[in-house]
Amino acid sequence: MRDYQLIVIGAGPGGYMAALRAAKLGLRTAVVESREAGGTCLNRGCVPTKTLLHASQLYRDACSGAHAGIHIDGARADLAEIFNYKRQISQKLSSGIESLFKGAKVELLRGRASITEPGTVHVTADGGETVYTADNILVATGSAPARPPIPGLDLPGVMTSDELLEGTDTLYRSIVIIGGGVIGVEFATFYADLGCEVTIVEGMDRLLPTMDRELGQNLAQTLKKQGVKIITGAMVQNVEQGGDGLTVYFLAKDTPGAASGEAVLCAIGRRPYLDGLFPGDLQPEMNGRAIRVDDAYQTSIPGIYAIGDVSSRIQLAHVASAQGVACVEMLCGETNSVNMDIVPSCIYCRPEIAVVGMTEAEAKEAGVPAKVGKCVMFGNARTLIADTGRSFMKVVANADTHEIIGAQLMCEHSTDMISQISQAMANHLTAEQLLLAMRPHPTFEEAMTEALEDLVKKLGN
Ligand SMILES: Cc1cc2nc3c(=O)[nH]c(=O)nc-3n(C[C@H](O)[C@H](O)[C@H](O)COP(=O)(O)OP(=O)(O)OC[C@H]3O[C@@H](n4cnc5c(N)ncnc54)[C@H](O)[C@@H]3O)c2cc1C
Repeated sequence: MRDYQLIVIGAGPGGYMAALRAAKLGLRTAVVESREAGGTCLNRGCVPTKTLLHASQLYRDACSGAHAGIHIDGARADLAEIFNYKRQISQKLSSGIESLFKGAKVELLRGRASITEPGTVHVTADGGETVYTADNILVATGSAPARPPIPGLDLPGVMTSDELLEGTDTLYRSIVIIGGGVIGVEFATFYADLGCEVTIVEGMDRLLPTMDRELGQNLAQTLKKQGVKIITGAMVQNVEQGGDGLTVYFLAKDTPGAASGEAVLCAIGRRPYLDGLFPGDLQPEMNGRAIRVDDAYQTSIPGIYAIGDVSSRIQLAHVASAQGVACVEMLCGETNSVNMDIVPSCIYCRPEIAVVGMTEAEAKEAGVPAKVGKCVMFGNARTLIADTGRSFMKVVANADTHEIIGAQLMCEHSTDMISQISQAMANHLTAEQLLLAMRPHPTFEEAMTEALEDLVKKLGN
């Protein structure tokens, strides 16, 4: 008999959810993890960044309550304490996962895993190696920050999100962020909240270039109001160490330019992480830099599966978890209940951004007849009270069937509200059906009713 029925490599949100589900379904399961349980998400990703953003929002609110008659003198942000708080939250959640493993009888094997043949996992720890056997192996090794070969990106002071999240005791006077995607704009929000001089250098023509145009444009306006400098269409050429900081040199529409800061964050994407995982001749087929998998998440090697950032087109924690659970359920003969076409995506800037499904432009490009209903939230009471800046909601429906096919929200609490659109999409609800729900007053959510009313009017009969 083999040691385990399933060995999962990596205890990130993909791996730990898969392992817990496998144990629940009766499989003898082990997880190999070389670092902290919880993976990137809990230790270097979702949770630490949201903890920092929570702290910086407290500071920002303390400094900017004047519109509502609140004046706080001497508000102070202590960077060492903020990062310590961040560490505490990650540690609590990480040890919570270890307790869940214990409770479910999932064995946590500490060390680095490698695979040289199907059904066998080598685990290296403290200089020793132990070999374990398993009926199936699930690779959930996640991703790592990408550092392209741009001269100077290896200088001290040029960091990826991993290093920046290690923390500092004092606030940088200034920071240049290379990349205006999700990670870049969340860090820009954190540092701008605290009063640091922030410059974003983005290669495409706007922030959040893969999302609805209006979101990136709106966010740029909001960040600019906070003093953030935004340079778009700028391709970074090199980074140099100067007298009192680092200078990022770029070409913007063929014109050379430069931005300087005490620190530089390189936030231009993440690569699937497989370092040392397949050290021998056994190699899975790849899809670019990611592991190629089939509909059941099986790699080209029978008995070896892969889920999450290491193999997925979409690198999000909830996608990794959903894939992990689906993979294990299919291994146990259950049908896959997860709809991978409905993936919400959120950005915790101010106001928050949340999207799901198609934009109007994407629908048109895919040949789907679409109408969009919109509410700009000037008159929304909660938006006015909270003074959150320009906010809006867009809801997209199929013009023929009236089914909801997507939404783009930019307003406070949108990251919590987006699930009602996902729910509508999962159940093929029409705009008219979603409009039937009464929404409480005063809420940000009332704007959804207005966007749907606009949509229903445009859809006609
Ligand atoms: C700054 C930042 C912010 C983010 N914010 C969000 C967000 O708000 N929402 C969201 O949904 N997503 C967010 N993400 C993305 C999210 O963190 C990832 O999509 C998610 O963690 C992927 O989960 P995973 O299980 O595939 O891999 P990971 O979480 O990367 O976990 C992989 C684990 O495998 C371990 N491992 C790797 N190789 C081996 C080996 N050979 N042996 C043993 N162990 C190994 C690693 O140590 C790691 O613990 C963010 C990412 C970053 C970097």
